[in-house]
Amino acid sequence: MTTPHRGTRPDSPVWHPFTQHATEPPPPMVSQTQGAYLATDRGQLIDAISSWWVITHGHRHPPIMDAIRDTAERLDQVIFAGLTHAPAEDLARALVDLAPPGLTRVFYSDSGSTCVEVALKMALGFWRNTGRPRHRIAVIEHGYHGDTIGTMSVGERGIFNASYEPLMFSVDRLPFPRGDGAGTLAIFETLAATGEMAALIVEPLVLGAGGMLMYGPEVLAGLRAICDRHGVLMIADEVMTGWGRTGRLWACDHAGVAPDILCTSKGLTGGAIPLAATIASEAVFQAHWSQDRSRTFFHSSSYTANPLACAAGLANARIWAAGGMQARLDAVGAMQADRLADLARDPRFANPRRTGTIAAIDLRADAAGYLAAAGPRLRAHALDRGVLLRPLGNTVYVLPPYCVTDADLDAVWGAIASFAG
Ligand SMILES: *Cc1c(COP(=O)(O)O)cnc(C)c1O
Repeated sequence: MTTPHRGTRPDSPVWHPFTQHATEPPPPMVSQTQGAYLATDRGQLIDAISSWWVITHGHRHPPIMDAIRDTAERLDQVIFAGLTHAPAEDLARALVDLAPPGLTRVFYSDSGSTCVEVALKMALGFWRNTGRPRHRIAVIEHGYHGDTIGTMSVGERGIFNASYEPLMFSVDRLPFPRGDGAGTLAIFETLAATGEMAALIVEPLVLGAGGMLMYGPEVLAGLRAICDRHGVLMIADEVMTGWGRTGRLWACDHAGVAPDILCTSKGLTGGAIPLAATIASEAVFQAHWSQDRSRTFFHSSSYTANPLACAAGLANARIWAAGGMQARLDAVGAMQADRLADLARDPRFANPRRTGTIAAIDLRADAAGYLAAAGPRLRAHALDRGVLLRPLGNTVYVLPPYCVTDADLDAVWGAIASFAG
């Protein structure tokens, strides 16, 4: 007997993302968001995962919501091929100012997956247009870059994408860097030296969906140096790590590294509205600049540079440009560090780790079956205590909006600590 309505509300035709409707309980209904909180029909929740990593300052951050409201008085979607508008122009200038040095051209799209697809296409276009075609892409084990066919191809393969495997293209996988990353760097050096490597795509410092796996800035700098030696383009997927998540504006900033192409989406509008940008170096842009129309960058989304989204992005960029965010990031990092240190003493947990505002720890489990079930049970346990968590397998992580308070984090980490398994 199936239970047709599990995982969905009884009267709902909605098919939820990453949701097994046969086994998951019906979702709470959210009626309002504010700061670190979600008001639901099951009571208030602390959003300890920033609504899947998009919310930075807090839900409905006033300057961002004001920008959307003001812009809606004048503009809605406008075709962005052959026309332009102030929100897109102003945001592009602001992004170039905030981005690591050498990134000068801003291509808009609408999600993390699409801005990564754009980056991959730019890289292949660069090599084709400069007359030395290269097609290989190097990736890091356990990486995640999105759920479209192209971004799944450059991501980790597993149960999440086994059905689509026949459609995916082949890539060169580097082992996840352990310690100083010497093993990973040596393998990359050999691959890069073949002269066939078009690009390396990395999630700088933190591999998010792969389990909040962390590596050091020196590894990122080492990868950059190899790219430089062999002319390989470096694509930094900062979709999750950007906008302060790792304790600096960009994760690349920790290593003093500038990629050739940077992808940003989740926190670009503070999480209020979808938008993405692929920010490219002048060389990548120039490779597509030609009297020969076949060298055009052939890519567009219907909602490219949506004016409301660009206005939200601009309001966010101005907050970062004004300075003052560093103190908040440091404070969130310190609060997270304290609580992580407490939990690290609990024998039921292992591998405590933190980069900036992101803290993660693994639930120890003996049997694989037990391990698989622990995540959903911890999620339900936290929900009962007014905390929204979403463990990745046996990895529990807290990735809060930056407005989070000490008391909020006490409630969040308290819910994790009180989980009996
Ligand atoms: C979430 C994520 C993506 C995909 O973004 P979507 O907006 O969900 O398509 C890509 N890369 C990284 C590193 C991400 O965390």
